[in-house]
Amino acid sequence: MSQSHKVIIIGSGPSGYTAALYATRAELAPLVLAGEKSGGQLMNTTLVENWPGEVEGVQGPELMINMRAQAEKFGAQILDTFVTAVDFSSRPFKVWTGFPENAVVSELTGNPDEIRALISQVKLMEPTYEAETVIISTGAYAKMLDVPGEKQFFGRGVATCAVCDAPFYRSKKVFVVGGGDAAVEDTLALTRFADEVTMLVRKDHLRASKIMARRAQEHPKVKILWNTEIAEVTGDKVVQQIRVTNNQTGESQQFQADGVFYAIGHNPMSQIFAGEVELDEQGYVVTRLGYSQKGLELAQQHTVAGLVQYPTMTSKEGVFAAGDIVDFRYRQAVTAAAMGCQAALDVERFLHTSE
Ligand code: NDP
Repeated sequence: MSQSHKVIIIGSGPSGYTAALYATRAELAPLVLAGEKSGGQLMNTTLVENWPGEVEGVQGPELMINMRAQAEKFGAQILDTFVTAVDFSSRPFKVWTGFPENAVVSELTGNPDEIRALISQVKLMEPTYEAETVIISTGAYAKMLDVPGEKQFFGRGVATCAVCDAPFYRSKKVFVVGGGDAAVEDTLALTRFADEVTMLVRKDHLRASKIMARRAQEHPKVKILWNTEIAEVTGDKVVQQIRVTNNQTGESQQFQADGVFYAIGHNPMSQIFAGEVELDEQGYVVTRLGYSQKGLELAQQHTVAGLVQYPTMTSKEGVFAAGDIVDFRYRQAVTAAAMGCQAALDVERFLHTSE
């Protein structure tokens, strides 16, 4: 027999833990399925200086451990387990953790067909849990390139959030990999502190919107190296140099560098939700918060007296989503936490109304 819950929260970053905190205080006794490595992206960071109220900053892992402890203090049940499949076709929703005994998970290559086949196998088992409502908060992770030195210097000069880390690079020389809106935004954020910001763009043009591209191209502190890819990051304890390659000429160049920011997109952790709730073209979960055209359309379909009902609800009635799995724009701990709060409040109202 599957265990039954009023609300299951899948994921454990700032959005998941904040949703859990609000749901426990609403006496919904949430179950949080936190993943095997709980805490999300902030577990891989060092000092977080933009968390409101922490005047001296707070270490990312400490912040997440505290968020978890606070949710547990009010009674949230948090399990460090990975959700392997869901079925949202009817309520109560079904959630599976674990794999069938004969599944060979270690040989998965990330191929979507293989993942789909494995999920079908998981669904042949008895579901582990049932839930009246679900909050998806599985997050997204920044894409990296796997060039030599990148992992070694991650958090020591290699970074993925310029908005968070730009103030550490006052009067320094930094590089930004990527040519989209996020790369330009990161570049401009860095110009407020660094002396020189060089964008490494693999094509001969920027993908960013025209207005954003112009801002980068006209900024006196910004240089752009076209057709250029990062090949290696080197240093001692922190990043000191990078090597780049021109993908047209094959020519290699070495530069002194204090920091390298990756802004080449994110991967939302939404594979198990494909076919269960609407996803956008990039795989982000669509909610009525209207982050994308699909979100706006969903919001318009659920407007009552000029107000969007349950803004954090997905295309499936009773399934909500919060944090970086929805938000490809702001991607901040504080915005994710805020959305987790919104989702828990929406769940509370939804359950109250549908009881
Ligand atoms: P995008 O997919 O728009 O851009 C990714 C960039 O990274 C592209 O320039 C791409 O190059 C480059 N890239 C991808 N892979 C590699 C690689 N292996 N090596 C080198 N470069 C690589 O992602 P963003 O994160 O910039 O934006 C995501 C979405 O969010 C977009 O819709 C964007 O418009 C939106 N956004 C809007 C903002 C705003 O309006 N202020 C701010 C931030 C994001 P290539 O062009 O060659 O593919």
